[in-house]
Amino acid sequence: MLQEKSYFCDELNNVLTCLNEKIMSCCCGIIGPVYYEKYRNEKISFDYFYKIKEHALNVLASGYIDNLPCKNCFHLREKKAYDEISKTYKWINVSHWTSCNCGCTYCARMVDSKGIITTKPTKSEYYDFLPVLKQLYKEELLDRSNLKACIQGGDISVLKEFKPIVQEFVKNGIDEFHILTNNIIYQPIIKDLLDMNKASIVTSLDCGTRETYYKLKRVDKFNDFVNNLKKYTESKNPTRIDVKYILVENVNDNIEEITKFIELMSSIGISVVEFSIDYKYVLFKDLDKNPLPAHYKDLFLHFKNLCEEKGLSLAMWPKIEEIVNRYLLKKEPV
Ligand code: SF4
Ligand code: SF4
Repeated sequence: MLQEKSYFCDELNNVLTCLNEKIMSCCCGIIGPVYYEKYRNEKISFDYFYKIKEHALNVLASGYIDNLPCKNCFHLREKKAYDEISKTYKWINVSHWTSCNCGCTYCARMVDSKGIITTKPTKSEYYDFLPVLKQLYKEELLDRSNLKACIQGGDISVLKEFKPIVQEFVKNGIDEFHILTNNIIYQPIIKDLLDMNKASIVTSLDCGTRETYYKLKRVDKFNDFVNNLKKYTESKNPTRIDVKYILVENVNDNIEEITKFIELMSSIGISVVEFSIDYKYVLFKDLDKNPLPAHYKDLFLHFKNLCEEKGLSLAMWPKIEEIVNRYLLKKEPV
C-alpha cells in the first residue's frame, strides 16, 4: 500500500492527561497512547513518556494509520513541515479522583465512584497529583507561559489536593485554568482566579427548582448552588462562568423547567448558559437507530429563544452542536 499522507496530532504532542489510575496523552481516556495503565505514586520517568509519544507521532507521520484507533479521531490532521515533537506539555488534564458530593443521574463516573456520595474533602483513591506536578515543573517540562490546566473529574469540591494544586500552578507559572465544578462548596480560590482573569468555570445546574435539582443530583443543595453562583458572579470576570442545562429524559425535559432555569440565570447575572443532552444519548447511542425524543427540538428552540430574549449567550460543546443541527434541526452538514 502506498503512503498517501503524513499525519500529526496536537493533543498527543502537547497534552498530559492524569485520569484515575491511568496517565496518558489525549483526554479521551480510551484510544490515545497510554503512559501508565495503573499509576500508584511511583517516581515517573518523563523520558519514557517522551519515547512513547515520539514513537506514536512517528507512526502517525508514516501515514500507515489504517489499523490505528486514532484513524477516525477529529484531532488527527495532516502533518506540516513546521510540526515538531515537543519536550514540554502545554495542556494538563487533572482528573485523577472519582469522589463526589452529589450523585447526578447522568454521571459517567458513577461506575468508578460506585455511586457513593462523599461528604467531606478526601484524597484520590489512586494517587496524588501534586508530586507529579512538582516534578514536571522541576524538570522544566511545562510550557509555563502557554500552560493551560483543566481540572475536571469527580467534583473538585471534595478533592483535598485542589487548593495546593492550584497554588503550585500559580506559583510556578500558568496561563489559564479551566475548572469544572458542581459548585456545591464555594471555593474562594476560584473567585480569586476569576478576579485575576486566570480561569473559566463550567458548572451544571440543569434545572430551575429545588425539587428537580434533588431528583437529578440526589442531594438537597439547590440553594447552596445558587448562593455560590451569586458569589462568583460578583468577581471581576463573571462572563467566564458557563452554567449548563443537561436535558435528562423524564426529569427536566420540559418547557417550564427550562423557563425557570433561564429566568434564574438572568436574575443572578449569568451571561453564558450551555445547552446539553444526557451523555448516555450523546456517547453511547446510535442516534440513527435510537432517535432523540421528538420534543427535544421544541425544547432546544425554546431555550434558544429565551436566551435571545434575555440577552444570554448560548454555548454548546461542538459534539452537541453537531447533534442539534443534524438530529433536531435536520440541517445538512456544511
Ligand atoms: S489522534 Fe485522537 S486518539 Fe489519537 S492521540 Fe490524537 S487525540 Fe488521541
Ligand atoms: S457533579 Fe460531576 S462527578 Fe459529581 S455526580 Fe455529578 S456528574 Fe458525577
